Amino acid sequence: MTGVFIISAPSGSGKSTLVSRLMSEVPGLTFSVSYTTRKPRGREIDGEAYHFIDRLEFEDRLQNSEFLEHAEVFGNYYGTHRSALKIAEDRELDLVLDIDVQGASQLKQTIPDAVTIFILAPSREILEQRLRSRSSDSDETIRRRLADAAREIRDYSRYDYVLVNQDLDEAAETLKSIVRAERVRRVRVEDRIRPILRTFDAALGST
Ligand code: ADP
Ligand code: 5GP
Repeated sequence: MTGVFIISAPSGSGKSTLVSRLMSEVPGLTFSVSYTTRKPRGREIDGEAYHFIDRLEFEDRLQNSEFLEHAEVFGNYYGTHRSALKIAEDRELDLVLDIDVQGASQLKQTIPDAVTIFILAPSREILEQRLRSRSSDSDETIRRRLADAAREIRDYSRYDYVLVNQDLDEAAETLKSIVRAERVRRVRVEDRIRPILRTFDAALGST
């Protein structure tokens, strides 16, 4: 049974850093590469960071019901393609999604067992420092991201887990623990438990 892990965070909270640690340190995960109409930033490669498409193509795909969820964020469309889940299921991997709050609540309706995780910087001051340390954004962009964060953090209460990213190593360990613990929920392990139980049934039969 494919597990679905949805991770959301205001920009600068450390989501990319933590997700890349998670993906490289926990086996059996695959990352959902979203479709977006926003333009590539910096060294983003088509098909890796996102599938970059124009609005017309996005709207066509939307009409064809190709997306599991979609949202308009900062004037651009973003969407999770149905194939992301299908590929994870076929390969028996758990799926990790980096999507916004609107997308998270849509997906939670379609996949009620999806696990939702919200990442937060310890304070506004620290968030600002981190946005500046990344030094890829202009002052204007940083101001806008801080204002957006003030709104976005209010949605934390819709999530199953809220992770405060203070110490990076500790936050990475906690994120990995969430995934590991969710993987041994009873509903997820039934298929693995039945054959174990059968070995005991056989022993009972022979006594
Ligand atoms: P996001 O993907 O949420 O926008 P990033 O992962 O790009 O955020 O992190 C923003 C900046 O903060 C990066 O420069 C990153 O190295 C730094 N950072 C992330 N987590 C921590 C942490 N726990 N302590 C200090 N710096 C951090
Ligand atoms: P960015 O443009 O900075 O990469 O992402 C902007 C926002 O869009 C982030 O909050 C990110 O989580 C969200 N996002 C990225 N892909 C998707 C997606 O497929 N669906 C939704 N709903 N949001 C997404």
